[in-house]
Amino acid sequence: MIERFDLAERHERHRAAVRDYCEAEIEPHVERHEREGTFPEEIVREMGAAGLIGIPFPTDVGGEGEDYRSFAITVEELARTWKLTAGAVNIACGLVGYPLEGFGTDRQREEWLGNICAGEWIPAFALTEPEAGSDAAALQTTAERDTAEQSPASPEPTEAVQDGDEWIIDGHKVWTTHGAVADFLLVVARTGEGDRRHDGISLIGVPNPHERDGFEVERNIPCMEGEAAVESELRFDGLRVPAANLVGEEGRGFRYIMEGLDIGRLGTAAQGVGIAQGAFEASREFADEREQFGKPIREFQGIGFKLADMASETEAARLLTLAAADGRDRGERITKEAAIAKTFATDVAMEVATEAVQIHGSRGYSTDYPVERYMREAKGTQIYDGTNEVNRLVVLDRLYDD
Ligand SMILES: Cc1cc2nc3c(=O)[nH]c(=O)nc-3n(C[C@H](O)[C@H](O)[C@H](O)COP(=O)(O)OP(=O)(O)OC[C@H]3O[C@@H](n4cnc5c(N)ncnc54)[C@H](O)[C@@H]3O)c2cc1C
Repeated sequence: MIERFDLAERHERHRAAVRDYCEAEIEPHVERHEREGTFPEEIVREMGAAGLIGIPFPTDVGGEGEDYRSFAITVEELARTWKLTAGAVNIACGLVGYPLEGFGTDRQREEWLGNICAGEWIPAFALTEPEAGSDAAALQTTAERDTAEQSPASPEPTEAVQDGDEWIIDGHKVWTTHGAVADFLLVVARTGEGDRRHDGISLIGVPNPHERDGFEVERNIPCMEGEAAVESELRFDGLRVPAANLVGEEGRGFRYIMEGLDIGRLGTAAQGVGIAQGAFEASREFADEREQFGKPIREFQGIGFKLADMASETEAARLLTLAAADGRDRGERITKEAAIAKTFATDVAMEVATEAVQIHGSRGYSTDYPVERYMREAKGTQIYDGTNEVNRLVVLDRLYDD
């Protein structure tokens, strides 16, 4: 049961500051990037410089030393403006940043995570494969140890020679968000076998993948969110990295991913809240301005009730998300709470965005207005960080534990 949650005045100040930042630095550029299908690299890097990426990480690794309620608020406000930017923070803090901070070496924490927090490195997380989606443990990408001499193509010859061996990665990944523009990949690969299917899976960091032999961006997958989103299909063909690039213990990667997913799902819930909030606000304004039959359309109860439901559902999603974040701030494991918040908030985002298009009539169907984008963005949130069916399974598995 979700017991309580608490927001301090500083959280509301933080929300106001992030909203101001979004309106000044992000909002003016969204339409152009969406129309041209270009990834907003400069925006994401500047978000790092402005302290918006490494919110929950300690200051000694370049983070902001803030709590997970501040993280959720940041992601929500970014998604209210443009989900793509919220997703960049979510990847950095959840599936990439969490294992680096919790299980990485001093160098991985200070250099890799430090660069990610500062916006110097855009990170990507490469787990999903053509035959391994919801069933992630079915992955076929391998990383094998090789004690042969360092490949001259590798940018870290000194370290690899000292360590005496390397990982050689072979495999095929799909839907690696920002893979084609990434400065750092966290690759999930099989390094051995074990008693259970998820034993023997490890995490390996690949800085500067584009400078390495054996790495290829096969294509960016054409998708509903548009080309700016950069959903990449990647090939690894004998890619070599130093043995020291293993994150945490060999064969324990799946455990790290499951823990990171608690944060990833919390952030995706916050994305859902932000999308719903943006779609609601646009609809509230439109329904006030648009007149038919001689009066603003909000005066038709059929439209007014939609607005009331959109406001109520968005608020409920926000409370669930902040409650899950508060649990994490109190040091609890929030697997169930994050799955509940993710499923509820992203389903709300889809419902609210769909109603927003309806309220806008034909204009909602046009790219002249932002609500069709919110609708496309909402659909993705129901699929990634575990589909909402898989998240319901996570909740179901825990219904008899309490
Ligand atoms: C926009 C976007 C961004 C993404 N970003 C990343 C990323 O950065 N890195 C990464 O590694 N992956 C990423 N993914 C991949 C994402 O994690 C997978 O799409 C997701 O895990 C589902 O896998 P799948 O698409 O292969 O669907 P499948 O697993 O094939 O599922 C198909 C359908 O079957 C349902 N289903 C499957 N198993 C069950 C079950 N046991 N019970 C009930 N229903 C089930 C699913 O819910 C779904 O409706 C991204 C996907 C999208 C759409």
